[in-house]
Amino acid sequence: MRLVLVGPPGAGKGTQAQFIASNLSIPKISTGDIFRANVSGGTDLGKLAKTYMDRGDLVPDEVTIAMVRDRLSEDDAQDGFLLDGFPRNVAQAEILRDMLKDWGLALDLVLELVVDDDEVVRRLAGRRTCSQCGRIWHVDFDDKKDDRCDACGGTLFQRDDDKEETVRHRLEVYQQQTAPLVSYYAAEQILVGVDATGPVEEVTRRAMDAIRPYMA
Ligand SMILES: [Zn+2]
Repeated sequence: MRLVLVGPPGAGKGTQAQFIASNLSIPKISTGDIFRANVSGGTDLGKLAKTYMDRGDLVPDEVTIAMVRDRLSEDDAQDGFLLDGFPRNVAQAEILRDMLKDWGLALDLVLELVVDDDEVVRRLAGRRTCSQCGRIWHVDFDDKKDDRCDACGGTLFQRDDDKEETVRHRLEVYQQQTAPLVSYYAAEQILVGVDATGPVEEVTRRAMDAIRPYMA
């Protein structure tokens, strides 16, 4: 099974990627993990990527793509994989398609985790971080009424990343980048949307139900 997982910030994509990959016994391949592995392993691509990151620049597409190619060539990815965080745009999707085609392969399915913006804002903007132990609480899910950490008594605060304005901006950026990607995969007829609201296990169950018909 060769899968791509897409979804907005706050959709629980990382968690779902883990569960789905483990259910299917395939590796979860995220661009974050690939970057870290290349940089800490001191590969040529890692060194190259680091020169950009050290300057605070974005790592160019070619470098990311070369890392993805290397990762997909590894033994554990030969019977399938779940990609998380790649492709990010239509250009990368086309390169991935050609890469797989060269190997006589193709994607089986693209799963889109669907959560509406207000729900994402509720999830992320409700987070409060403990200034002392770093633990994260949620005003609704943990029914947090005061600004004290129940674990250590520290003061809770809202990280800038979790402020409603920032969350809405991240959602806008995501929509701009991802809407064309989602349309691209819809046109390829391999896109399936999964309702990502509700408990984690329920979302995983829905995802597995959506995947099953595509399994060989
Ligand atoms: Zn604390």
